[in-house]
Amino acid sequence: MRTNSFFKLEDEFLNSNEDNFDLFLNKLSEIQGNKNKSQSPKVPIIDFNYDAELSKFALAFDGEDSEKVLDNFQAVFNGSIRPHSTYSLFNMVPTPLLDAVAATTLTQLYNVNSLMDDFGGQLLLTEQQISRGVGKLVGWNEAVGISCNGGKLTLLYAIKLAIAKLVPNSNKKGVPSNLVVLTNESSHYCVEHVCSILGIGSEQCVRVPAQKDWQMDYQQLEEIVTLQVSKGKQIAAVICCGGTTINFAHDDIDKAYTVVTKTLEALGEKYVPHFHLDSVIGWLWFNFKIAGSNLETTEKSIQSKINQVVQRQAGLSKFDSFGVDFHKNGLCPYSTSFFITKSKEAFTALNDGSYEYSDEDYQYGKFRAYRYTIENSRPAMGISAAYITLKRLGISGFQNYLIELHEMSLHFKNEMKKEDKLTVINDYSLGWELVFLIDFHILIEETKHNEGIIAQGFINYCWNKCNQGEMVPLISFVPAYKVHAESVEQVAYLLYPINLASRNEATEIIDSLKGVIADFEQDVLTGNYELSEKAIEKPIR
Ligand SMILES: *Cc1c(COP(=O)(O)O)cnc(C)c1O
Repeated sequence: MRTNSFFKLEDEFLNSNEDNFDLFLNKLSEIQGNKNKSQSPKVPIIDFNYDAELSKFALAFDGEDSEKVLDNFQAVFNGSIRPHSTYSLFNMVPTPLLDAVAATTLTQLYNVNSLMDDFGGQLLLTEQQISRGVGKLVGWNEAVGISCNGGKLTLLYAIKLAIAKLVPNSNKKGVPSNLVVLTNESSHYCVEHVCSILGIGSEQCVRVPAQKDWQMDYQQLEEIVTLQVSKGKQIAAVICCGGTTINFAHDDIDKAYTVVTKTLEALGEKYVPHFHLDSVIGWLWFNFKIAGSNLETTEKSIQSKINQVVQRQAGLSKFDSFGVDFHKNGLCPYSTSFFITKSKEAFTALNDGSYEYSDEDYQYGKFRAYRYTIENSRPAMGISAAYITLKRLGISGFQNYLIELHEMSLHFKNEMKKEDKLTVINDYSLGWELVFLIDFHILIEETKHNEGIIAQGFINYCWNKCNQGEMVPLISFVPAYKVHAESVEQVAYLLYPINLASRNEATEIIDSLKGVIADFEQDVLTGNYELSEKAIEKPIR
């Protein structure tokens, strides 16, 4: 065998007897080293241009030694958010449970492929145990599921399954052109893209306007169903909102189900669409459906918010599937999502139309997931992460986690109330995010710029500081925020508490925010910082 001076087998791979496991741990600590011990919310980064960087890049002929490569590896994290910083308040980016990271790391070390159980072993059973367990929280005693890379894929599985159920021969013959998908106007922006990927077309995703509290307007839902049927369309799927990052849009899913099915029935339609709850965030509330809730000792306002969500989820027994993002509010690393559906008939419906799963498939050594999954070779880290987290926290642990997120949010809100310049405006949201205004009236008067330009200037100012690795709160902004569906749009800011450790530092964090605001005002007034009229792209939600 030809060797490269940097490449000795015995050093670079885990030995079969694993007696060099420490070597792996050494490599891990070598990468981490003494670097990156900053507490700032972002790893510092210097601005760059992709084309300029790429034009300089080519692969080297010679390999380099481990130490050098690992030493330089840290640079790839430049500019990334550090979720373990208590000043990371940007979005629902959690700091994962160390047990979950340890488990996923080991899963990679053993290089588990979850395409089928002959490769992935019991991890495929674990995947189904997680799905069954979470399904049972909502009374689905036959639930099965698919571990996948992100909430977007949970929607992809839902709509794919919807098409297959409505048009069984579509798996072989292709997708007919008269299918539509209905969803709440507040649903995630990726639903259109999912429809596009699946060949339905993004324009066949029909958004139902929301009523005041961001639930679908059920009257309009009925009108849309009637209109679509009159146009010869078939409603393949109804995707209900099960909690969103901002305003926590959550449909009353029993109502949505009843309106759609009753309207279709009255029109003489013989099918029932696939009902999916996009509960990638809202799944956390499922933990309260079970007896023995930790709510009693909680602040009344929190109890009431949690109970309202639980009530809106009451119709889940009639639904067909839902999604879970353990990497959002389940303390798991990316990507740990599950598509969960009521029965294993889905495995047949999701394949290419040439295989029918039977009892024989459920014997160890026979279970082949690749027939119904999007990937062939498939990572297993999500299965490990979700399993560990569910075991570590238990149902009561997740209840407490949600309660503590709400408590942290209340605590931040109280700290913000003490500041004249800050006004929290989303009291009414059922989530724990904080949307607030900053009073820049002095700057507006002095500079004659409108509020939007000032806000954009401020957020850029704040983000620049974060990109330089400064210890200032990493918050976000909502250029066209509406408290209620019919409210006027206003420029607002978002503070998203997600790391429970931020709670103890709320006073310092809000103080620091005040400091950035004051610096910004001063720098604009003295001409040290120039405001740009150019609109920056809206942050994603
Ligand atoms: C985040 C999110 C998604 C997309 O999930 P990814 O994990 O980013 O793929 C879909 N729906 C809702 C409601 C979300 O919050």
